[in-house]
Amino acid sequence: MTPRLILIPLLISAVIASTGHVLAQDKGTLDPKPLPPLANPNDPKIGAKELFGRKLLPAAMPTRVVGFYAKGCIAGAEALPINGDTWQVMRLSRNRNWAHPDMVELLERLSVKAHKDAGWPGILVGDMAQPRGGPMITGHASHQVGLDADVWLTPMPNRRLSREEREEMSAVMMVRSDRLDVDPKVWTPGHLKVIRDAAMEPRVERIFVNAAIKKALCRDAKGDRSWLSKIRPMYGHDYHFHVRITCPAGAKECVSQPPPADSEGCGPSDFAYWFKDSVIHPKPSKEPSKPSHPMTLSQLPPDCRQVLAAPDARQ
Ligand SMILES: [Zn+2]
Repeated sequence: MTPRLILIPLLISAVIASTGHVLAQDKGTLDPKPLPPLANPNDPKIGAKELFGRKLLPAAMPTRVVGFYAKGCIAGAEALPINGDTWQVMRLSRNRNWAHPDMVELLERLSVKAHKDAGWPGILVGDMAQPRGGPMITGHASHQVGLDADVWLTPMPNRRLSREEREEMSAVMMVRSDRLDVDPKVWTPGHLKVIRDAAMEPRVERIFVNAAIKKALCRDAKGDRSWLSKIRPMYGHDYHFHVRITCPAGAKECVSQPPPADSEGCGPSDFAYWFKDSVIHPKPSKEPSKPSHPMTLSQLPPDCRQVLAAPDARQ
């Protein structure tokens, strides 16, 4: 493994350790309380997540993606409707079903494909972005620019879920208890089909899944395997997969990331890091984790101030 490949997971684990991690199965509430007003919203040291987390609607501005997946914001985001023929949005209390219109359209299309190809009634959609993107108070280092979305690895049931179920229902754990493979009791050919459908979308740049899931995809994929290069092992992602799309054409302020290498990423060396005992069973750290310094507004691209200050878009 090259030093660069080692460094990336380390950096990511540092981010997860410092921000805490909201999981797909974390429950929501039927009675979300608005966040209390900030005593001093102009304090330059205040976390940008406190500011973006208090915006309930998108900015009334033309659609603009500003910055990078893990450091940015979005104006003119669109909501994925909470119910479609072939999708339902989960954890409505989080108000994170916002994204760039291209992502909304992609999820709708993907849900139809999942229905046709895997025979699923549809897909359950988890966190996308906040109405104006930006950092979040809980979970996710990325999901900041409306180009990331989490899709549950649990098929949509063949009925409309209640509000309560959308907050309380748990996704199915796909990884076997030894963390080295998927759980054969729950992993099905349909899972591969849905993930493959997503990966085959030209705008999809990366898909994050647990390493055990990538291993299963490597083993099970038949025929054209080129899409496997987009599937990237990642911490968490035992219950859902994370779809990331490229910057929209002409979005000059959107910071792209290099496309993944062409290789399938299915060789033993690709998994060596992920299946190390220290990664599968991380030791709890002895020292309490230091409080992290949240990203401030001045660390985001300057135009995110404008996005934050704009009036609410009418929905
Ligand atoms: Zn995600």
